[in-house]
Amino acid sequence: MTEKETIVGRGNRDGAALFRRWFDELNEVAERGDRAAYVFVMGSMNEVLRAFDIPVTFPEITSLQLAVRRVAHEYLQEAEDYGYSPDICGYVKADVAVQLREGGHPMGRIPKPNLAVFTNACNTYIKWGEIWERLHKIPIFTMDIPGHRRLGVHTQPGDSSFEADRKYIEIQIRELISMCESVAGKKFDIDKLRQTMDYANQMSASWARILELNKNTPAVFNALTDGTIFLGVANGFRGTKEGARYFAELVEEMEYKVEHGIGTVVDERHRLSFVGVPCYPIFRRFNDLFADRGGTFVNSTYLWFASGGTNRGYQYDLRDPIQSLSEGVLLGVRDAMDSMFDQTTMVRNSIDEFGLDGVIFHPIKSCRTVSTGLADSRRQLMEDTGVPSLFIESDMMDRRVVSEAQLKNRIEAFFEGLESKRRLSVVGGN
Ligand code: SF4
Repeated sequence: MTEKETIVGRGNRDGAALFRRWFDELNEVAERGDRAAYVFVMGSMNEVLRAFDIPVTFPEITSLQLAVRRVAHEYLQEAEDYGYSPDICGYVKADVAVQLREGGHPMGRIPKPNLAVFTNACNTYIKWGEIWERLHKIPIFTMDIPGHRRLGVHTQPGDSSFEADRKYIEIQIRELISMCESVAGKKFDIDKLRQTMDYANQMSASWARILELNKNTPAVFNALTDGTIFLGVANGFRGTKEGARYFAELVEEMEYKVEHGIGTVVDERHRLSFVGVPCYPIFRRFNDLFADRGGTFVNSTYLWFASGGTNRGYQYDLRDPIQSLSEGVLLGVRDAMDSMFDQTTMVRNSIDEFGLDGVIFHPIKSCRTVSTGLADSRRQLMEDTGVPSLFIESDMMDRRVVSEAQLKNRIEAFFEGLESKRRLSVVGGN
């Protein structure tokens, strides 16, 4: 293999292998009759759980994998037949069906929970956790993260109100540690926490660097397709040696691509940003609808909020782990919430840096948390910046509400508009 063949594409290959291994390990846990903590991408508290060697399951990820594997509709139907409304979050319904099937999942058996940990980043998390509490009679832990109080105004480390919020989180982390001691049946080891936080530091620094590298032309990865693989590792392997190493190698790959002018597989004609949650039922084909016209997703709000704010690259101070963890959790989850609820600001800030030609808004039927207000966000962004945008609706799970033909028509028309704008700017000398 040449150097190029070894490095280029390694992140996707190794990411898929790690992900497969993660599911295999969960299957082994389930087959032994052991249990795992159920956690969420926005504030997983993986650093703490890993310090107790508690295996973690991300039900959002196990649910979306059902859509990628094209069986989600069976699970959704089962939960609806059981009594869940067609209107609620598709991830919840798919997971309910997984629970009814005793963990049955195409990638392996999902262990039952021994603990569920969630934040208030999405209101659905809290009701979802209550389902497991009722089904499995387990302890649940809700971490309450204060968001910003006024749009665009953020308290920062050093402010007295930030310190009050941080302290509030620190107290909750100490309660979570006590709960983990009782669930895992072992004493808390602060050096082990330092170790998981050290790995998380390495991963966060790499993640921020990788996102930064996509400002280059051509973009070195596709935020929608490649980025989702990276996200899976960022969540499942946060706080682990393998996760830290994977991301260090990913930086190496992306820097190599920048140095050698290697872009994604697409002939890059239009640099796009994606707002919302991907269309998993037709995951690759959805991207192809853009790639076929030279559209490359150079960034997305998904890479920010679904990494729980890890994109900030925050570095824990290992001399005072719990204090620093509370600060990092506050900054990270608050940033994730901003990326969901204040997309206009988040995208506006990246237009020039990433050289965006257009923004794709993708509200979906079954995630109201991310989709509510997107029409207003889009209008605001267009008024403020004039950047072309497209508003297309589908779903992250339910193929029954995804109309590929309609999407294709709208996307084609959008690209016609982009091309004509480009032609006019050439004629006008702009
Ligand atoms: S953010 Fe959306 S998809 Fe995720 S749990 Fe909340 S409602 Fe469901």
